[in-house]
Amino acid sequence: MTLAINPAALAEAAAGPTRYRMLIDGAFVDGAEGREGSRVSPGHGVEVSRYAFGTRVDVDRAVAAARRAFDTGPWPRLKAAERSAVLLRAADIIDRRREEIARLDVIESGKPISQALGEIAGAADIWRYAAALCRTLHGESYANLGDDMLGVVLREPIGVVALITPWNFPFLIIAQKLPFALAAGCTAVVKPSEMTSASTVVLGEILMEAGLPNGAVNILLGTGPDVGAHMTAHPGVDMVSFTGSTRVGQATMQAAAPTLKKVAIELGGKNAQVVFRDADLEAAVDAAVFGAFFNAGECCNAGSRVILQEGLEAEFLAAFEVRARNVVVGDPLDPRTKVGAIITPDHLRQIHAAVASAEAAGARLFADGRGIGASAGQYMGPTVIAGVKPEMPVARDEIFGPVLSVLSFRTAEEAAQLLNGTDYGLSAGVWSRDIDTCMNLARAARTGTVWVNTFMDGYPELPFGGAKQSGLGRELGKAAVEDYTETKTIQFHAGPRTGWWATPATVD
Ligand code: NAD
Repeated sequence: MTLAINPAALAEAAAGPTRYRMLIDGAFVDGAEGREGSRVSPGHGVEVSRYAFGTRVDVDRAVAAARRAFDTGPWPRLKAAERSAVLLRAADIIDRRREEIARLDVIESGKPISQALGEIAGAADIWRYAAALCRTLHGESYANLGDDMLGVVLREPIGVVALITPWNFPFLIIAQKLPFALAAGCTAVVKPSEMTSASTVVLGEILMEAGLPNGAVNILLGTGPDVGAHMTAHPGVDMVSFTGSTRVGQATMQAAAPTLKKVAIELGGKNAQVVFRDADLEAAVDAAVFGAFFNAGECCNAGSRVILQEGLEAEFLAAFEVRARNVVVGDPLDPRTKVGAIITPDHLRQIHAAVASAEAAGARLFADGRGIGASAGQYMGPTVIAGVKPEMPVARDEIFGPVLSVLSFRTAEEAAQLLNGTDYGLSAGVWSRDIDTCMNLARAARTGTVWVNTFMDGYPELPFGGAKQSGLGRELGKAAVEDYTETKTIQFHAGPRTGWWATPATVD
């Protein structure tokens, strides 16, 4: 099968490339060493963006600007109400520019436009939520330490934060970090993925228009080795928040260690949906299709494993096939599309190789989406691998493509073992009409999130993050802003203080 990519949309996407520059100290600038990058649209195969890429020199300039903005600038010193007003204005401008931002994420990442529009609206909602938290952030006081002592615990902004994001949700993931850091009073140096930087540059424009002081947010463009690595090691940075692959997450911790920076990391997942025989099968099948193929499976939360109670497989797969057949794969700019393009030709080859090795290991290919060609860009359809055994790589490794592995279990204990049988621990789903079954498995799951009779819903109010090798720390939720703070204990003493010399000596 060959997809005919819509020529009108292709022409629109090709009406570029647009050039993007870095934001340093309130000005949009080229890199000091004149490096350039470019992006070919995964959905259309045409160059859509060119970027001014930075190097260590630009990292030093951006960190110095953020440092100045933190140490002597107005941002950390504003009243919470004033900071909140800037974040709320930013949210309004995001809403106003929603279609433009969504389109940039679509042409650079290959995700479907209908989904991207939802992500940008969701991002604006998170900015508003962070604006509210700004005003409720507070410390503690202790009046129970004796009449002559008052203990006060301040929550102060941690300082300059480095925020590094991946390509799969360019505008949404920065919304899970930056507004919370700003709400706390921090200043920031941000680096989006070198493949999907456009919408983050637009965010820089939005923040300047919203009234953010110069240097409070700086946006660097460029590769991980040239820019990201230097950000994570930089002595002028107080905290790093990173979302991306396990390999780079580990490198981030190592780079941050010599200066003992605080590190928050969000990594991958091999998330399972466990379906019991008494589940609402129709709803579970729908969630399995959604979980596996949303964002073409290029999603840390993807439900890339379905674990079915013994005896369910035939019925489940039959219903699954009907639904999966109706999933529209195609041009990301077409509003009917549900599965868009794969991020790069190289990544597509890696997904194909993972499917081939699962077959070679003895698993059964129930649906094969590798046959999809396209007149432009790179695509892959829904792929289902049945008869997967827990020891196979396809049951344990993150594939990051539209590939679902189907396993089976006999008892609830075995289901929990399979669910927890990977190094990851990001999220899980449980499907059953029995409350005991749901509760027991939800409690047994070693994951940061468990969805019960639903999958991949998200709210700014609810913390998100991973257990085990899926990450450290949590984003979103009411504590998200606290993550960007440091506490300071102040002890106030009143009246005469008993001198050290006056304390009777004790002899053991
Ligand atoms: P990646 O790790 O290759 O890159 C992520 C970011 O890190 C990019 O901006 C990249 O330029 C930068 N980077 C690369 N090398 C670096 C280095 N040495 N030092 C500092 N920065 C460096 O990841 P990716 O391919 O962009 O994204 C896919 C991965 O992200 C998947 O594993 C996915 O599961 C994970 N992810 C996790 C979450 C989550 O919230 N848990 C969300 C989305 C994606």
